[in-house]
Amino acid sequence: WKNAPPSLRALAVHARSHGERLFTIYEDERVTYDAWYRAVAALATEFRKRGIAKGDRVALAMRNLPEWPVVFFAATSIGAICVPLNAWWTGDELEFGLADSGAKLLVCDAERWERIAPHREACPDLADVLVSRMGGDDLSVERLEDLIGTPHSWPTLPDAEMPEADIAPDDPATIFYTSGTTGRPKGALGSHRNLTTNILSSAYAAARTALRRGEVPPAGVQKVGLTVIPLFHVTACSASMMGALFAGHTLIFLYRWDTVKAFEIIEREKVNLTGGVPTIAWQMIEHPDRDKYDLSSLESIAYGGAPAAPELVRKIYEVFGAMPGNGWGMTETMATVTSHTAEDYLNRPESCGPPVPVADLKITDEAGRELPVGEVGELWARGPMTVIEYWNRPEASAETFVDGWVRTGDLARLDEEGFCYIVDRAKDMVIRGGENIYSSEVENVLYDHPAVTDAALIGLPHKQLGEEPAAVVHLAPGMTASETELQSWVAERLARFKVPVRILFVQDTLPRNANGKILKKDLGALFQDS
Ligand code: ATP
Ligand code: MG
Repeated sequence: WKNAPPSLRALAVHARSHGERLFTIYEDERVTYDAWYRAVAALATEFRKRGIAKGDRVALAMRNLPEWPVVFFAATSIGAICVPLNAWWTGDELEFGLADSGAKLLVCDAERWERIAPHREACPDLADVLVSRMGGDDLSVERLEDLIGTPHSWPTLPDAEMPEADIAPDDPATIFYTSGTTGRPKGALGSHRNLTTNILSSAYAAARTALRRGEVPPAGVQKVGLTVIPLFHVTACSASMMGALFAGHTLIFLYRWDTVKAFEIIEREKVNLTGGVPTIAWQMIEHPDRDKYDLSSLESIAYGGAPAAPELVRKIYEVFGAMPGNGWGMTETMATVTSHTAEDYLNRPESCGPPVPVADLKITDEAGRELPVGEVGELWARGPMTVIEYWNRPEASAETFVDGWVRTGDLARLDEEGFCYIVDRAKDMVIRGGENIYSSEVENVLYDHPAVTDAALIGLPHKQLGEEPAAVVHLAPGMTASETELQSWVAERLARFKVPVRILFVQDTLPRNANGKILKKDLGALFQDS
């Protein structure tokens, strides 16, 4: 790279210097930093040959496979904009992502291709499709392996020569889609600077955790991480993957979460870092066979993206001796804005932590006036991690990106020391006859009940009151609790008007999207059916 931003050049230097260390592990595919870098250079060269120019969109739709970080860097390193699409999306949703971003090239796995194929005509900008891991003999698309080989053969690719690129730090690098929890997903256009900022934030969190564990020096310690959240979410890509690349960590990918398989891998590969979403930490804690495995290598179990119960924080430390970690962020902030680890977190389990050193937070009323410490209002965030704008959504951009700040739509408060407490999403708050009920407050009380492992509070429509609180609850295997028992449990701890008027018990854990958010908009229907 001749004119690449320092961020990219630093990554290349790091990647090369980690050399024979493993970057990714997936089943029996063990990819070293050197092999990854060779594959990136080969694919970047191929993209160039196909006319992919600066600013063109390259869509990436696949599970967490070793190809993912290859495609991501092949695209971004030549100045193209990488558009990771949600691998859980249906054909229609994938079509939306491809058309909305105007992707010229798509790299996907066979499963995604099956879903997208019928929609190809609807994406007129899409000139090229490369499919990885495709069996059968579909000749309508090219195979990624025919161009760069398989993870097993990457070490034998010619010595890596990166195409030249002229990229400035503020040039766009990515379009990540928001989760679509409150409406249609929006593409957030992120820059190279945003990506690099996350390296700093991850290193900062790692250093603080290491220091608390008495490890000195904290920098440069290479760890093994089990990556559970999909890379198409900013958290996994820009916090876990970018952080790993810089530090020389090894990332282990799973096709899908399986607690026993995770235990086996943690024991065999001596995994130090895992987490992603609170749910998987619960599953590990509650698994009956947990004690059969040596999980003592675990140092940190960190998550973000969704509220975690304070009870979980203590349990992680008690059960695994690992440091719990939490971070608040959103797609619009390219992941990490607050970071909460070690004793700070154990002492303030309700908080999602203080802002990372490069971020500012403020709380305002509805008119945008800043509120005093301790008061609940809308959270705003500012710093070099906030994205440029929404892709092709000028109105939504003008609403959300104001004077260098991001209006988050989350309700929160800050304490005297700057720790942030997420109270609710503005849209999830239940308003009962004018009284605000923050769902996370009631959910946390329910979580504290020994029988409850999953809980969500929603509002049910009510003629006079507007809304009434109701809860959906999942109980731990073998445990029982009745509706009235849980209602009294809440009534003993919170004001009467916050007690759910109905509590519904479900067999399975609650429906969640890929990064652990409960799909609340689907829960109201359960009450109609019952
Ligand atoms: P959309 O914006 O499309 O409705 P989304 O907001 O769920 O979807 P993301 O950008 O993936 O999309 O998620 C950001 C949101 O996730 C935040 O606004 C916040 O509500 C929630 N969140 C993130 N981290 C945390 C955390 N540590 N604790 C509580 N909530 C969190
Ligand atoms: Mg959002």
